[in-house]
Amino acid sequence: MRKLFILSILITFFYSTNAQQCRFEKTNGLESATYFEAIDWYKNLDKISTKVLVKEMGMSDAGYPLHLVMVSNDGKFDAAQWHKQNKAVILINNGIHPGEPDGIDACMMLARDIVNNKIKLPDNVALTFIPVYNIGGCLNRNSSSRANQNGPLEYGFRGNAQNLDLNRDFTKNDSKEAKSFAQIFHLLDPDILIDNHVSDGADYQHTMTLLTTQYDKLGAGLGGWLKNNFEPQLYRGMAEKKWDMVPYVNFETETPDKGMEMFYDPPRYSSGYAALFQTIGFVPETHMLKPFKDRVLSTYALSLTIIEKASANANELIAERKKARAEITLAKAFPFRWTVDTTKYSFVNFKGYEQGYKPSDATGLNRMYYDRSKPFTKQVKFFNVFNASNFVKTPAAYIIPQGWYGVVDLLKLNNVGMQQLMNDTMMDVEAYLIEDYRSTPRPYEKHHKNSGVKVFPVNQKIRFLKGDYIILLNQTANRYIVEMLEPTGDDSFFAWNFFDAILQQKEGYSDYRWDDLAAEVLKNNPALKTKLEEKKKGDENFAANSSAQLDFIYKNSPYYEPGHNRYPVYRINRK
Ligand SMILES: [Zn+2]
Repeated sequence: MRKLFILSILITFFYSTNAQQCRFEKTNGLESATYFEAIDWYKNLDKISTKVLVKEMGMSDAGYPLHLVMVSNDGKFDAAQWHKQNKAVILINNGIHPGEPDGIDACMMLARDIVNNKIKLPDNVALTFIPVYNIGGCLNRNSSSRANQNGPLEYGFRGNAQNLDLNRDFTKNDSKEAKSFAQIFHLLDPDILIDNHVSDGADYQHTMTLLTTQYDKLGAGLGGWLKNNFEPQLYRGMAEKKWDMVPYVNFETETPDKGMEMFYDPPRYSSGYAALFQTIGFVPETHMLKPFKDRVLSTYALSLTIIEKASANANELIAERKKARAEITLAKAFPFRWTVDTTKYSFVNFKGYEQGYKPSDATGLNRMYYDRSKPFTKQVKFFNVFNASNFVKTPAAYIIPQGWYGVVDLLKLNNVGMQQLMNDTMMDVEAYLIEDYRSTPRPYEKHHKNSGVKVFPVNQKIRFLKGDYIILLNQTANRYIVEMLEPTGDDSFFAWNFFDAILQQKEGYSDYRWDDLAAEVLKNNPALKTKLEEKKKGDENFAANSSAQLDFIYKNSPYYEPGHNRYPVYRINRK
C-alpha cells in the first residue's frame, strides 16, 4: 500500500514536470506564451518544486504586479544570504519589448528543466527571472507590429501601458515598472543582468548576437576581466553548443567592410543602468529574420552558457566586483564622455550575406537586398575600445534642497545613503550656472530631453533649510550618484527635465519703471556702468537697443533672482 502511494506520488510528479509543455513546445516553436500562461507556469513550478519561489514585486503601469522568480537548489531565497555564500546571482529580464518575446519562452523551459533535473543548476549560482517585464505591452497582443520579424504568430507591443519604451526608462523612471525594477535590482544586487531582445537591422547568418555592456564603465579591473576573460568563454561556450555568436551588429545598411562599433549603452538602457552598480549587463539580441524556434533555442543556450560560466568563474566574478566597488567608493573623478577609439580594434569572424541592388517591386526605385545565395565569412574589424573624457571631480558631498523630492525619492529607491540637515544652515558651496543646453523640439520618451549641457561653476554662500539632503560620496552607489546628479551626465536627472523649472525666470520688471531703478543701480555700481559702456562700444545693435541694455543691467543687479539657471544640486568640494 505504502509502495503504491509513493509510486503514485512519483507518477504525479513525473507527470506534472515532464509532461508539462509550454505553448512554444506544443506548437513546435511557432507560438509564444501569453502573459497569463507565463505567470501560471512559474506558479506551478513553485507549487511542485522547493527550488522555485515566485513572488510579486511592485506594480506595473498596466495594473498587474511584476513577478520575480527565484531559483536556488537549496530552496533558500534570501539574496543577501546568497551573496554571503558566494553564489553568483543572475537576473534575467524578459519581455521588456514584448514584440521580442524569445526570452519569455526560453526562460520558462529553462526553469522547468532545472525543476525536473534535466539541467543541474550549479550550487554556486542563484538564478532569478522577471518572467514578463512590460506587462501592458504583452497584453497588447498582435501579429503585425514586428513588421520584419519571423514569428511567433502573436506577440506583444513595444510600448507599455503609457506607451513608454521601458528600455529607455531605467534612470528617469516614468513607469511603475522601472521603479519596481529598481527595487528588484537592489534586493538581488545581481552579479550579472541579462535582458533578452530581438534585433532589427542588417541580415547575416548568425542567430544570436550579444551586446555586452561597455567595459570601462565597470572599472578597469572588472571591465578588463569581462572583456579578456569572461566574455570570450561565452563565445566559446556558444560555439560548442553550435550557436555561432557575434557581438551585437551595429551597422544598419552599411557593409561590414568598415567594421562595426561596440554599442555604447548609457544608463537609460538596462545594461547601462546595471553598470552604474558594477553589475555586468548582457543584452542578447537574436536575429529577427531567423525562425522564432531557433531564436528561442539560442536564447536558452546562451542563458545556460552564462550560468555555466558564471559558476565556473564565480570566485573571480565576485572578487572582481568587490574590488570594483571598493575602488568606486574612493574614486576621485569620473569620466562623462566615452568615444570609440577608431585606431584600436579586434577582429570578429562575421558570417554575412553579400549585398546586391535591384529594382524595387514596391517603389520602382533601386533597392538594396541581402543575397542569401551568397553567404560569406569575413574577418571584420570590431571597435570595442572607448576613450574616456570630460572627467568631473567627485565632490565630498552633494546637497539637494528637499523641494526636489522627485529626485530624492529616486535616489532613495536606488539605495543612496543620505542625511538631512538638523538646522537651517548657511554653507559655502560650489554651484553650477547652466550656460547652455539644447532641448529636443519633439518629445523623446515623453520628454524634451536636454543635451549639450555647459555649466559654469561658481562658489556661493547658500542658505539651506532644515531637512535638506546631504549625500556623501563614499558609497558603492557613487557612480550612480554622480551620473545622475552631474547635469552633463547622458541620462542625468537634468537631462531628463527633472530640474527644468530653474530654467525659467519667475520675476521680471516693466521697462518704464525699471529704467529709473536701473539708473540708480548704475550710479551705485561704477564697475557695472563701465561694463555696460564697453558692451555698447563692441556691439552696435546692443547700443541701439534700450530693452537689451535694461535687461543687461537687471541681470547684473541684486534684483535678478539668483536661482534662475542655477542648477539646484550643490557641491561641497574636497579640501
Ligand atoms: Zn528590444
